[in-house]
Amino acid sequence: MGDHTAISWAHHTMNPWVGCMKVSDGCKHCYAEEMVTRLMKKPHLWGPAATHRRERTSVANWQRAVRWNAEAERRGVARRVFAASLADVFEDHPDCNAARPDFWDLVRRTPYLQWQILTKRPEHIREMLPNDWGTHGWANVWLGTSIESMDVASRADHLCEVPAVVRFVSYEPALGPLDDLDLGGIDWVICGGESGPKYRAMSLDWAHTMRRKCAEAGVAFFFKQSSAPRTEMGIMLDGEIVRAYPAPLSINWDGSAQSPSGAPTLDPAVRAAYAARVAEDANDANATARFASIAQGTMDL
Ligand code: SF4
Repeated sequence: MGDHTAISWAHHTMNPWVGCMKVSDGCKHCYAEEMVTRLMKKPHLWGPAATHRRERTSVANWQRAVRWNAEAERRGVARRVFAASLADVFEDHPDCNAARPDFWDLVRRTPYLQWQILTKRPEHIREMLPNDWGTHGWANVWLGTSIESMDVASRADHLCEVPAVVRFVSYEPALGPLDDLDLGGIDWVICGGESGPKYRAMSLDWAHTMRRKCAEAGVAFFFKQSSAPRTEMGIMLDGEIVRAYPAPLSINWDGSAQSPSGAPTLDPAVRAAYAARVAEDANDANATARFASIAQGTMDL
């Protein structure tokens, strides 16, 4: 297992457990299902709770996050960790529910990591958050939901019911226009066409419209790629790489502290690491070399 991730907007991927089941059209060509059921030979982990299990990953896998945190602290630059690529943190399944408190404990103990938790089940977020989530959310957790078409646009409403220092929408795989999506309460949109041999075509008009909507609403916009046979193909939009990141609540783009009432209080060293992350991201608009190395990296389990 490598420490790099194929997900271009994160530095690492962490799967606290493995297994899921399809919930909407965006899941049709789920690479995780293919990986778990066919490559890992674990078909018993993909399907409904009544007949299928979820499997917690190894202690060594969980400890990698602790190591990433230590490295980020030593370097003084926070790192982004995507959770989870082979599961859904907010799935209502007994095996997930049993492991989730330990996952929150890990997240609590790794303040130098910016955890990006993406779900297709945002209606469960509120009931599955830890008791000390607070009125603005934990400083190191970004919450996101996938919205592939207007058919599932209500996921944004569920997401916005929950406080978070960053709320984001993954418009990937883009399967239809999101022209009528309300971006109120959203801080970041990742937009991308489907990738893989059976990819469904995306119109770049959808990306253009979303980019404009984000600009009008003050939302950071990240264009991952066009629809294509493989990941990281067609990463240019209108001849440029457009990959912006949000600044988490409590950190301004210049690295100074924001102090909205009740915002999470950050240890000065953690705040400095967040600020360094934000500064690196702000200067990262043309990081072709980094994206190329990501594309060659191995995916974390
Ligand atoms: S929710 Fe995510 S991991 Fe689960 S089947 Fe759908 S795309 Fe795959």
